[in-house]
Amino acid sequence: MKTFHIAVLPGDGIGGEVVAEAVKVLRAVEAQMTGVAFDLTEHSVGAAEYLKNGDPLPASAFAACRAADAVLLGAMGLPSVRWPDGKELTPQIDLRERLDLYCGLRPIRLYHAAHCPLKNYGAGEIDFVIFRENCEGLFSSRLAPRDPAADEARDTLRITRRGAERICQAAFREARRRHRKVTLVDKANVLPSMVFFREVFDSVARHYPDVETERVYVDAMALYLVQRPHTFDVIVTENMFGDILSDLAAGLIGGMGMAPSADIGEGCAVFQPSHGTAPDIAGKGIANPIATILSLALMLDWLDHPETKAAAKRINDAVEAVLADPANRTRDLGGALSTTQMGDLVAARC
Ligand code: ATP
Repeated sequence: MKTFHIAVLPGDGIGGEVVAEAVKVLRAVEAQMTGVAFDLTEHSVGAAEYLKNGDPLPASAFAACRAADAVLLGAMGLPSVRWPDGKELTPQIDLRERLDLYCGLRPIRLYHAAHCPLKNYGAGEIDFVIFRENCEGLFSSRLAPRDPAADEARDTLRITRRGAERICQAAFREARRRHRKVTLVDKANVLPSMVFFREVFDSVARHYPDVETERVYVDAMALYLVQRPHTFDVIVTENMFGDILSDLAAGLIGGMGMAPSADIGEGCAVFQPSHGTAPDIAGKGIANPIATILSLALMLDWLDHPETKAAAKRINDAVEAVLADPANRTRDLGGALSTTQMGDLVAARC
């Protein structure tokens, strides 16, 4: 029997509500496995933990994440809870950087025509994945001290050869698996850092002659994602551009409640919905748990055991089957199902 140790971090706001549904689904697929078990340990992190003990990511929780086979995370931070200098707590970014989870994987798939604000797109016709560089880019100076008396403030967009190479390589590997193409999103017409990013992309591309490539400026990409999202397969970009475009992309498939993510490093990974803590709907039982359930499927696939891979497919198929029926929608998608009702439906189909 293989036991996978999973650190579970519900966090703040709707984090706990959506993680509970993912755990329900995990237990449902585990019940059908013969050679795999999951040992889940829950850790308190985020704004509530900060208010209690002064640290949103306590050393014990961080050590547990490092030691676990994988981490399942809800969401962390609340707009009203801030550091003394006024900045919001962002322990999810600290976790990414400290574990060097450079590869931000954001799959975008349309499950039902009615979830898409654009006309003429049916289920499966929007289906691409964003590879967001997670550890440098425009976030790289985010922890630098700021002089409150100064008349200017700066952020640095840092691209290293190693950082650009490894995210581009990950994107090309995935494109080869999907047999299609990679779109580089940059701003190489204006920023020297982006000229460098494009040079690295081009040098990685030479090792993948079978993969089609295209290069698009980020402003044009915002337009094309709305005009022709079906033409994209694998998209690779720096941290901040990936942050913005993945929210836009989530808007194409029904909103944040439909967008899963994985932050992957060397032998370590965190799986969480792309959304935040959604304080506007927290505690109401109406959050859509699908993004977290799909993130769980990414985790099971990444664990790379024949039984977990099969379970990942069962979850994806269950989500597809449940969402094919227009009666099965949470409020964000125009329906009336609660968070737990949606979780129950998916768990029952697995
Ligand atoms: P962060 O900065 O932490 O990523 P955010 O400010 O982008 O967070 P979110 O918490 O992602 O904000 O919420 C953005 C919007 O999407 C809110 O209106 C929220 O209610 C909605 N939303 C987010 N997640 C869900 C969900 N799982 N189900 C339904 N609506 C959601």
